[in-house]
Amino acid sequence: RVFVIGSFVMACSVKVARLPQAGESLNGLAFLAEPGGKGFNLALATHRLGITVDGLFAVGTDMVSPMVRSTFAQVGFSEEMLVPHAGSTGAGVAFVDASGENCLAVCLGANLALDADDVRAVAARVGRADLVAATFESPDAPTREAFALARALGRPTLLNPSPVRPIDPGILADTAILVVNAVEAADLGLGTPDTIADARAATPAIAALLDGGLELLVVTLGECGAMAFRPGSPPLHQPAFAVAAVDTVGAGDAFTAGLMAGLLAHEPLAATLRQAAACGALTTCRFGTFDAFPTAQALAAFLDG
Ligand code: ADP
Repeated sequence: RVFVIGSFVMACSVKVARLPQAGESLNGLAFLAEPGGKGFNLALATHRLGITVDGLFAVGTDMVSPMVRSTFAQVGFSEEMLVPHAGSTGAGVAFVDASGENCLAVCLGANLALDADDVRAVAARVGRADLVAATFESPDAPTREAFALARALGRPTLLNPSPVRPIDPGILADTAILVVNAVEAADLGLGTPDTIADARAATPAIAALLDGGLELLVVTLGECGAMAFRPGSPPLHQPAFAVAAVDTVGAGDAFTAGLMAGLLAHEPLAATLRQAAACGALTTCRFGTFDAFPTAQALAAFLDG
């Protein structure tokens, strides 16, 4: 069972022939509203792999919140996972033109109101989880609280610091597994894709993280696959699977879900990374995220095929 300190964003996109200019009103070609947010995507991708998921997701008091409730019911997530907070539910609006170029803005809204008290109120549920995960679409306070609870019980914690900001030292001290993409790795000063992909040794910044108590660092490098670093072991490289990618949004969330599934099943790290990469690759083969995350059956068929 995984507990996710969640975030929810209703992602709306309008397909247009060209991006509108200031003051202009264009006729759109298609509209799509898709439930998303990094925390929700991570929870959904993990659930698709057959793992029980619990968590906390703040929703506002606007007209979007009933849609979130029906999405959770449709997926099979408990209503207990939703925490009402004043204000608007997280939402994003994007325009996508014929060439795939886009412009977008996300308002995290109620997600930013999730706090440590919300976590304390469900401490028993957090304590039942085998792994607690969080992203940076949530504020630091609930993540710090949940990670401290998990670590006090000897359970692993996973942080995906996206969208990237400096990691709070209290959170880092309670993080067992850190998963970052190339942009986040560079921003956190861990190295460039070239220095990180050099499998002979970890960069000094990565070595310092591992000396500081981090148990596993995974850096995803898109089509160049992923690198995994553990204290006392040489770095491992997992190549990306060659697939006909149509939309890479959500690949990182699917990868992290596959990683958690492998770790919870006590698979060796190499097999876990291979499964994670397969989840990422499968997700790039479909547009969007909601329908793109693979099921356990689809994953098994891909790995065996
Ligand atoms: P994010 O989506 O967070 O930016 P990445 O782009 O690094 O993360 O992708 C995460 C993982 O998904 C990669 O390590 C890789 O295994 C897989 N992946 C991403 N893009 C592709 C692709 N075009 N083809 C195959 N696998 C991919």
